[in-house]
Amino acid sequence: MDKEIVRTRFAPSPTGFMHVGNLRSALYTYYFARQHNGAFILRIEDTDVERYVEGAVETILKTLELAGIDYDEGPGKEGDVGPYYQSQRKPLYKKYAEELIAKGSAYYCFCSKERLESLKDEHGNVRYDRHCWHLSKEEIERKLANNEPYVIRQKMPDEGIVQFNDLIYGLIEVDAKELEDQVLLKSDFYPTYNFANVVDDHLMGITHVMRGNEYLSSTPKYNLLYQAFGWDVPEYIHLPQIMRDETHKLSKRYGDAHFEDFIKKGYLPHAIVNYISLLGWAPKDNQEKFTMKELIERFSIDGLKKSGSIFDIKKLQWFNFEYLKELSAEEYFNYLLPFLKEIKADASTEWYQNMCILLRERLTYGAEAKTLYDNFFKEIDLKAMSSEVVDFLKEEGVFKTIETLYQQFQTLSVWNEETIIQTIKEVGKALSVKGKMLYMPCRVASTGEMHGPDLGKLLQLLSKEVVIGRMEKLLHMMKVW
Ligand code: GLU
Repeated sequence: MDKEIVRTRFAPSPTGFMHVGNLRSALYTYYFARQHNGAFILRIEDTDVERYVEGAVETILKTLELAGIDYDEGPGKEGDVGPYYQSQRKPLYKKYAEELIAKGSAYYCFCSKERLESLKDEHGNVRYDRHCWHLSKEEIERKLANNEPYVIRQKMPDEGIVQFNDLIYGLIEVDAKELEDQVLLKSDFYPTYNFANVVDDHLMGITHVMRGNEYLSSTPKYNLLYQAFGWDVPEYIHLPQIMRDETHKLSKRYGDAHFEDFIKKGYLPHAIVNYISLLGWAPKDNQEKFTMKELIERFSIDGLKKSGSIFDIKKLQWFNFEYLKELSAEEYFNYLLPFLKEIKADASTEWYQNMCILLRERLTYGAEAKTLYDNFFKEIDLKAMSSEVVDFLKEEGVFKTIETLYQQFQTLSVWNEETIIQTIKEVGKALSVKGKMLYMPCRVASTGEMHGPDLGKLLQLLSKEVVIGRMEKLLHMMKVW
């Protein structure tokens, strides 16, 4: 394969949902391939049968599609180096593992589970003692002829320094003594990740490997495999973790770590893509919003950071709000409707439309509709009013304003935004009050809050009965203050 041509890959394991860290690896890899007119390959690493989750491949494909990533080769897009499911490449791994045995860089290991158990140290860690490395040729042949189950292990050097170069982290070195003779091929002839990633990256002609830095410490071992086979080593780019805070990785245990979770909550795919692209990579200027095309053009390896970036949900909300602004009224309606239906399943189209207009000023993601709705429309709890509200209600003239509004609102036969605002203005004129001293009493008396969305729309949606009822209750209470 022509080494001049950049070939990158995304190699997810179908073990469940798509962690945003994995998606970010896919994005960077994709940007890099596209900006070099190279190929972006999708390889499904499904050799860990125990961790396989039904439907996870569909989730991967769906995620890539939503994120705007198209791959050149992979499931359903056969290229020259398939299959692209590792489970369908099983015979290959056995062949290459046996080749390593012939080269003296690997060996059969027939040790039983019980024997391995007995090697556990006080912390429960097993370090293989190379028992089977010392088996004679005859013993090995006899065991193979008897069909004794075996694994194939990599033979690590006895001493020396094993190193590799990472484009972000520089030269990584480990003492060979620290490396265990890891399993390459399991007894069911499935390869371990440690073996399959090397064989496949080579056979698929991968020139640049980008992946999470949790693989940084195992990569020296992979280098030994490349050397043993006499293969060219790809360029390595290990990416910093996405963090929940200074010391913890973003993980599913703490909720939002999955792309699907964000989608379900109403985050737009591109808002997520844009935000997570900036977690680990910084452009040379302060630009924040990027189209996919710009991300492809602007992404650069020297803009990648070494240290983890903290995932800030508020910042993602800001991005989402920015992208929501770009939707037309109709697109916004279609976007928000499912969330509004969770609040009221069978309201009129007009109600949904009005809610869209009302919430659009503030809503940062779809599922927030419920919280905002509850906030705006909740019953006023007079006892729970904040001191800010109570102090305001006690100001001179406020009672009178509410009382007059209450009387005038009752006379309205048409209750809509225009008639409401018109009435408020008339009351203002009659009482010679304006601005905050006019609108705020109205807001507080109908919502119990000093802040909220557009007043006319809000009152219209609350309905005349509710507004008047609330004002009456409040006036009653204020009289006995
Ligand atoms: N299957 C591995 C994972 O999902 C891929 C790591 C790699 O890119 O080499 O973490």
